[in-house]
Amino acid sequence: MTDWFADSVPPVGFVGSPLDRADAMRKDAAAMVVARADPAARWLVLDDLRPVVGERDGLHWFTRDEVPADATSVFLGLDSGAPRFAVAAAGLGRTGDPRGVGAALAASATPGDAAIFAHARSLIDWHARHRFCANCGTPTTVAKAGHERVCPACDAHHFPRTDPVVIMLALLDVDGEPHALVGRQPRFPKRFFSALAGFVEPGESLEEAVRRELFEEAGIATTRVRYIASQPWPFPSSLMIGAFAETTGTGELTLDDDEIEEARWVTKAEVRAALAGTGDWLAPPPLAIAHTLLRAWVEG
Ligand SMILES: [Zn+2]
Repeated sequence: MTDWFADSVPPVGFVGSPLDRADAMRKDAAAMVVARADPAARWLVLDDLRPVVGERDGLHWFTRDEVPADATSVFLGLDSGAPRFAVAAAGLGRTGDPRGVGAALAASATPGDAAIFAHARSLIDWHARHRFCANCGTPTTVAKAGHERVCPACDAHHFPRTDPVVIMLALLDVDGEPHALVGRQPRFPKRFFSALAGFVEPGESLEEAVRRELFEEAGIATTRVRYIASQPWPFPSSLMIGAFAETTGTGELTLDDDEIEEARWVTKAEVRAALAGTGDWLAPPPLAIAHTLLRAWVEG
């Protein structure tokens, strides 16, 4: 995978697509006709947003003749010049659990395939849920090879959504020893703890979102916010923005019970044990950027 980040940041899941997104081709209808007819063109099929998989849950790529001609396909980009598309279609093969496939791909010899899947899933999901104009209610048509929808009635242009989410590790020195805050939502599996997170709201910077979320969910005040890394999260279309949030004070927590049922300050030794699977709590898996944040913190 391409090393996008400084040496100090561990790998991030769903990042590092090998595809050239070839934006200029999207609006060139003639080029797209040629691309779809290219013998090297391949389609990734999503069946109810679940990927059709091949051996060892790797992505399975279909030829043009193997996918329904009337299905709407979206252009993902070029793989060494070969066009790659995604299409929603049912019953064409064995599907895998989306998160499980994402984890398997990220851990495979070609982790960039997880990024291709993320791109495809978010885009197909957006088309499925944005068929009507948000301005006037008329059914919209696909444009720019699937990266836009246009309303034939009012000419509004609609673009694929990406919803920013801040995810942060609050840091606090207690008696000279660094601690990080992990919490668990009621829906999490037993003993599973992660970094706190929340959607960025309109009219808010990333730093402000980090501060607000930590105050709302845990009652703690943040001093400095430091960006670490980001990650697309295709369930359905979030952009996770990972940060460290420095805090001062006693570390006393006031939890928002609806969001966080338990939270605790943990030491680097406790995080190392959790990442190694030997702690008394479970850390997020490598696919999740919370894992990256925890690793970045303990690896200094
Ligand atoms: Zn409209």
